[in-house]
Amino acid sequence: MKTQFIYGPVPSRRLGRSLGVDLVPYKVCSYDCIYCQLGQTTEKTIERKPYIPVEKILDQLYQKLKQDIRADFITLAGSGEPTLNSEIKLLIHEIKKHTDIPVVVLTNGSMLGDIKVRKSLMEADVVAPSLDAYNQEGFEIINRPHPGISFKTMVEGIVAFSKEYSGKIWLEVFVIDNLNSDETDAIKFKYWIDRINPQKIHINTAVRPSAETSVRQASPEKLAVFCRVLGEKAKVIAPFKDLDKCDMQKTDIENELLNLIARRPCTLDDISSGLNVHKNEIIKYIEPLSRNNAIRAVKKGDALYYESTSTR
Ligand code: SF4
Repeated sequence: MKTQFIYGPVPSRRLGRSLGVDLVPYKVCSYDCIYCQLGQTTEKTIERKPYIPVEKILDQLYQKLKQDIRADFITLAGSGEPTLNSEIKLLIHEIKKHTDIPVVVLTNGSMLGDIKVRKSLMEADVVAPSLDAYNQEGFEIINRPHPGISFKTMVEGIVAFSKEYSGKIWLEVFVIDNLNSDETDAIKFKYWIDRINPQKIHINTAVRPSAETSVRQASPEKLAVFCRVLGEKAKVIAPFKDLDKCDMQKTDIENELLNLIARRPCTLDDISSGLNVHKNEIIKYIEPLSRNNAIRAVKKGDALYYESTSTR
């Protein structure tokens, strides 16, 4: 099967309809976060190289855009850390020449200590880095970074980027119950977040199955405390709700469904919104795929998620 570097548009709680672009193979990342929805990192690295050549990505992206899809963002992220792809600057430049759809880079922020990486993101409309810890100890527990990255290098890199970049910065803070979820934690985060001064602060928690089963969702009350401490720019990311009538060919649905959940576990609602297909129709595909062990259902809290049984 041909490797797909483009997926979606998928529903995103931060971005609406997000047309995803993979810049690195599964799962090349500088971190191995305990909450990662993609599972454990298989190649922990800080080596930058053209993991996936830009021309291959652009070729598939342009084909996708010809299909008259509706996307709120082209999202550079995918199966690991996108700034590890040394051609990300060229990729953003070429996408901006081709389409008006805004480009967002979802990054863990680990490489922003490198001025070359900071310069490579200047043409993006939005850069959305993560900040899940406020000191070295928490950084090691939650993000399990490559030994070449310290908390200080990472956070000072994000601060430096925020001063140089003229686009929007949407910072994500991932809150895990009993690890970084108390009011005292929120106050310590605030010191760094004030220095970064992002346009938006997205407070997230473990609503999907994580790399480590011990990761617990923070309660809405705890997330509300974060919002109060961090001020009016902070908001808890609301569940995605948008459903239009079906506009996809039936023959594409199974492939798109497998493509979508190969990247992250999704609920029935997520799949329905992402593929723009009614839930009742999706169920017709889920049942035989489950019977054939191509996908499996995983319970998380009250929600049922579907995930792929194969590793890409
Ligand atoms: S959550 Fe993101 S940064 Fe963390 S391990 Fe997964 S892909 Fe890497």
